[in-house]
Amino acid sequence: MGTMTTLLDRLYTLLPALEPRAHKRERLMAAPFPETWRAWLAEDVPFWQRWPEETRATAEPMVHAFVYEQRWHGAGELVVTDRMKVVIAACAVRPVLRLGLGFYEHISEIVVYPHERLTVPGHGDHVLGVAHQHGVVVLSWPAVIRGLRRPTDGHETALHEFVHVLDLASGQMDGMPPLRTHGDLAPWARTMGRRLADVRQGAIVPLDPYAGKNEAELFAVASEHFFERPRELRRLMPDLYARLARFYGQDPAG
Ligand SMILES: [Zn+2]
Repeated sequence: MGTMTTLLDRLYTLLPALEPRAHKRERLMAAPFPETWRAWLAEDVPFWQRWPEETRATAEPMVHAFVYEQRWHGAGELVVTDRMKVVIAACAVRPVLRLGLGFYEHISEIVVYPHERLTVPGHGDHVLGVAHQHGVVVLSWPAVIRGLRRPTDGHETALHEFVHVLDLASGQMDGMPPLRTHGDLAPWARTMGRRLADVRQGAIVPLDPYAGKNEAELFAVASEHFFERPRELRRLMPDLYARLARFYGQDPAG
């Protein structure tokens, strides 16, 4: 039996495309985390540097698995480097630290653009990233880096797009991701509805007015705020903060 396992392991190493995703994830998460990746994260990802050691220890195996599980594609002349993949993976892992990578099962491809702004049919010519209904995540690399360099301004492009992916995990992008229990549905809808109205009426809120577009954008913009300016969100919108804290299983305001 041991021999059989070894043979299978060898086969999977030779033919990575045939390896079942769950097996591959297990293997990647158990593998040692590359030292070079650690250095890249320390240099490029300020929120990572501010995490306690135990949070980084939870996140590293997830970053490792995410980098190798996803299909990456550079748009135009851009070549997606390992460093770019590691940085984007860190952004993706942050919201699912307690939820797990299973929330990203339906991502089919991650497309990275070299330009600051993208032109996407149906989305205008000024978007920084897009999460498509069919599982393609499109990101502007300069926008990703800019979002990271100012870790407390409430704007984080990559996080925003991955939150749309979490939203989509429930089947549609409607501002309601798969919640923990059935009992969470009504309070979530009530809080989102009330806060969407606040943003639309121009009430003094901490969120970017873009959050008023619809429930999906409110969820994404509020999540950027939740991770980058948690204390402010908790003070000004305690109900919204509490809903997000319960969903993410995280309490960044401490
Ligand atoms: Zn959006």
